Amino acid sequence: MIKTILLNNRPKGKPTISNFEFTTENDNLTIKEGEILLETAYVSVDPYLRGRMSDAKSYVPPFELNKPIQSGVIAKVISSKNKNFVEGDYVSGLLSWKTQQVSNGEGLLKVDGSKAPLSTYLGVLGMTGLTAYLGLNEIGKPKAGETIVISGAAGAVGSVVGQIAKILGLRVIGIAGTDEKIELLKTKFGFDAGINYNTSKDINADIAKVAPNGVDIYFDNVGGPISDAVLFNINRFARIIICGAISVYNNTELPKSISVQPFLVKNSALMQGFIVSNYADKFPKAMQKLSTWLTEGKLTYTETIVDGFDNIPNAFIDLFEGKNKGKMIVEI
Ligand code: NAP
Repeated sequence: MIKTILLNNRPKGKPTISNFEFTTENDNLTIKEGEILLETAYVSVDPYLRGRMSDAKSYVPPFELNKPIQSGVIAKVISSKNKNFVEGDYVSGLLSWKTQQVSNGEGLLKVDGSKAPLSTYLGVLGMTGLTAYLGLNEIGKPKAGETIVISGAAGAVGSVVGQIAKILGLRVIGIAGTDEKIELLKTKFGFDAGINYNTSKDINADIAKVAPNGVDIYFDNVGGPISDAVLFNINRFARIIICGAISVYNNTELPKSISVQPFLVKNSALMQGFIVSNYADKFPKAMQKLSTWLTEGKLTYTETIVDGFDNIPNAFIDLFEGKNKGKMIVEI
């Protein structure tokens, strides 16, 4: 049987399991000339999918109700009538939450499991690794000796940003939600300091303590009060990279944040949002850099691997509870 996960209704606030519907169909999929049959191996769950579950204008159209949800997927080619793929190839691309599906191959990239574990093409060698590399370099323009603060630091994007910043010679401070994550940042990823935002009594003061020379770059994954606190510590000509705002993705009312303008004016600071696909022309070079660092052992990664197709929605929901360390991935 082929299993599919559909968007049943749009979440109000935090997503719940009732927003999803599981269906099954007989596994008699056939392929036409030019098509391939794919079997799903790994599914990426990502915070941005929350945005696509709402019926709101964004940089990608919303998911349609009663249609399969899509995300980054690694799949195995189990039969092919497309000259670009042979049986046994693995591909990466934006695919449906289905155990098997037919594709015409458009937008799919072949991935090589002998060079790196297949799951890494959804994380450090995939979309989140590229986001870290390109957001930091294109907007942050990091320079050795500067200080960077990263929120969501123990997640897929944040953990890679911090390591790249270390490679480039910066002082790196991470903000995350548990002491265990702070320990991981310092021991595995080489961060210089970490702040647990759940136990800190004053995040602004704690940043000042670990960043005595102020903050030159802020890589923002979370938004909300954590990001407000960072603003009090920015230096002249600081760069604030707005990658995401997970702390407000489930808000049902407009968030109450401080006014950023005085901080930006006073410090001649730059604040810029971005979507990784803005830099699609730079993907090959960035990928090469990330792979080289990985091979050289300068870059490492952590994954939280959840087992089983039926657990995809729960793995997604768990992102909002901080249950992942590094990239959250479901193995089918
Ligand atoms: P991730 O960091 O691996 O997972 C999400 C993490 O967010 C959780 O582990 C949790 O860690 C933290 N979190 C959840 N609720 C929070 C809250 N209320 N306040 C503070 N932290 C909270 O996810 P990711 O894939 O690397 O994505 C990180 C951010 O980058 C997201 O905002 C995402 O939308 C964005 N993103 C943007 C682009 C782009 O092109 N702009 C691309 C990829 C990702 P804690 O335990 O530390 O709370």
